[in-house]
Formats: sequence, C-alpha cells, structure tokens
Amino acid sequence: MKIHAIPALKDNYIWLLQAENSARTLIIDPGDEKPLIQYLKQQQLEPAAILITHQHYDHVDGIRPFLKYCSVPVYGPKNDLIPAITHPLSGMDKLLIDSEFSPVSIIDIPGHTSGHIAYQFAENLFCGDTLFASGCGRLLGGTAEQLFDSLTKLSLLPSGTKIYCGHEYTQANLRFASVVEPNNTQIQQRIIEVAAIRKQGKMSLPSTIELELACNPFLRCDQIDVITAAQQFAGGTLSSPLQVFKALRLWKDTF
Ligand SMILES: [Zn+2]
Repeated sequence: MKIHAIPALKDNYIWLLQAENSARTLIIDPGDEKPLIQYLKQQQLEPAAILITHQHYDHVDGIRPFLKYCSVPVYGPKNDLIPAITHPLSGMDKLLIDSEFSPVSIIDIPGHTSGHIAYQFAENLFCGDTLFASGCGRLLGGTAEQLFDSLTKLSLLPSGTKIYCGHEYTQANLRFASVVEPNNTQIQQRIIEVAAIRKQGKMSLPSTIELELACNPFLRCDQIDVITAAQQFAGGTLSSPLQVFKALRLWKDTF
C-alpha cells in the first residue's frame, strides 16, 4: 500500500491509500474536493471509497461535490453526522472495504467529537483529530474522560504504529510540549528535526506511537514533570492522570 498526502484548506491533510500494483485508492477525510480531484487526475488514481474519521467541515465538506465527480461508497462513524454516508461504522476488526486492500480495523475514539473513529491498516493509523503529533484534539462534542480513554487506547498500540493525523500542527504542539516539559531532551531534539523538515516545505508526518509516548504531554499524564507542570497551571493538587489530562487540555486551549 502506498500512502499519499494532499495538503488541503489551511493545514489539513487528505490521505490517500493506493493499493499495491494498482490504481485503486481509498480517500480519507476529503475536506475539499478541488485539490483531491486534481491530484487523482494527475496521478491517474482510481477512487474506490471515501473514509471519514469525524463530522467536522474540514474533513467532510468535499464529500458531496466529489460524489458528483465520481460515485463511491462513503464510510464513516455512525455516531457523528456525516453527509452522504453509505456505510455507518463503529468499532470492529477486519472490515474488508475493497478486495485490493487488506482488511481495516475500526477503533472508536470519541472525545474530540462524540462519534470519532480511527482506521487502522496494519501498522498505519488514520486517527483524524484525536491524536496529533505531540498534541491532541480539542473537546468539541465529547468529554474529557472519553478523549483521555481514547488516547490511552491508541497509546497501547504497537510502538512502531505510524500516526497519520488530520492536521499539520506539530510545531505549535511541540512549543506547548516544551513548556510543559522543559527538561525533556527528546522534545528539544524533535523541535530541531521538525523545524528542518518544515523549512524544506515537507510534512512532519507520520509520527509513531513510540515518538508520541516520548514527546506528547497528553500521553504522559503519569510522568512526574508533566504532573508538576499541570499542578502549577491548575493551582492545586491533581490526584489522577485524568485530572492532569483535563488541566493540560485547558492549558493548551489558552496557550
Ligand atoms: Zn475536527
């Protein structure tokens, strides 16, 4: 499987999964049909299906106009409101979307929205706006408890799992991470690496679970430096990783 990224809107990525030795292509989160159609034509790819992670406009607005160009099935979370959906999904293993692709696992990861799902193709995870490189999505429909549980679920995936998220937010997230953990040398190293990548106009993704466990404060709510920083922000003792997570999320919202 070959993975393509199409930059769209302000800082979104539309991900394409192209089958091995074939033009068949799955489209993930088409927030804008224009760059998508242009890219498919240019690369001579054949659309097989659209897969949606959650209901926000910058992930779904291209669906209807795209379907006028090419009619394909639309998969998406059954608990979010998605236009033109043909296959509503919630957590399951080994769904066969197209015979040219290996089966996909659907993972329920509510929190950013109440119905958010992720698609896992072997070691490749497409997780929309739930887990970002060095950050996580805001609470726009689900609860902090849900988002914390969803991030915990993703953090337990194999460490080599590649993270393909919905936005290029890595540099801003690392700035926050370095304030939470000024003594984390892996965050400092990552800031330098990502700055060099972005300077060349390249994308900072995919990340990996291993990198996120090292650099993402939202996956490190049980680490003493993260707890201490969150307590300073909250102005009191935080008695559980969930409380630390809530404080971090609030802090990042106003950072
Ligand atoms: Zn979103």
